[in-house]
Amino acid sequence: MPDTFTDEQRQFLQLLRLPVPGDPPPEMVQAKPLVNAPTALPNRPVSAPAQPASAAMSSARRDVGSATAALPPAEVVPTPVRSPAPPLKTEARQAPVLATQASTPAADPQRITRIATLDWRALNNMVSTCQACPLGETRKHAVFGAGNPRGSWLFVGEAPGAEEDRRGEAFVGRGGQLLDNMLHAMGLSREKDVYIANILKCRPPNNRDPLGPEVQACMPYLQRQIALLQPRVIVALGRFAAQGLLQMGTPLSQLRGTTQQYQGIPLIVTYHPAYLLRNPIDKRKVWEDLKRALGVFAELQ
Ligand code: URA
Repeated sequence: MPDTFTDEQRQFLQLLRLPVPGDPPPEMVQAKPLVNAPTALPNRPVSAPAQPASAAMSSARRDVGSATAALPPAEVVPTPVRSPAPPLKTEARQAPVLATQASTPAADPQRITRIATLDWRALNNMVSTCQACPLGETRKHAVFGAGNPRGSWLFVGEAPGAEEDRRGEAFVGRGGQLLDNMLHAMGLSREKDVYIANILKCRPPNNRDPLGPEVQACMPYLQRQIALLQPRVIVALGRFAAQGLLQMGTPLSQLRGTTQQYQGIPLIVTYHPAYLLRNPIDKRKVWEDLKRALGVFAELQ
């Protein structure tokens, strides 16, 4: 790591509550957004920093008609009470089995076709009672997602951890706090701009890696969520999110720094917040990825 940091990098580290060499401890530093934070508009998402509200809704979203009508009205999600995180994981794990590589009853074409027709509420109901894989027996709560379903951004993680399983909400542990700081640094918030979902809706026991049949059973839910949300940009957090969405086994290191596509929606890959907590040396790379995402978003306007 270099000895010197630009002001921007220094600010980003402070926002993430991560130590800047030579600076006071991060908890002593008051975080400020790096970009203009969007103005809070009641019941209206703000699509990007400094964007007029009229630009907030994508033409794609305006055009999806019945799919979008199935979304619940925008609502302000209460700020979650933060709790200690479950054990953290690293990126250096065995490659996931892609959804197409395993076959289970959950791959039943009729089930997949049915999921693809559900509206937001029916999808949520189906997820909350899902028993398509063995995780349905060990979870406390299925975690559908969090944030504003009418936001322009979708961040996709891996699977709920212990705290998410307990509370039924995505990214509410220590990694969630870091994710919120990352969003803040981008001038975004989960209350207004961002919806957050996971590849798996149920927690794998002991936070182990997702298994191929679990991914296979759960992907139709995320695919339907994306079809209904019609996000303008997707950010995949970590290898499982990236490889699951892109259905490829390309290493994260090769996916980072590129702009991928998920069904015509730009997709940016970065490290998972839990990985970043354990490997703060990579935080500057994350900021590069997030700036790429902001740039891609700006180009869509
Ligand atoms: N990690 C994830 O990938 N998702 C969550 O919801 C929480 C932790």
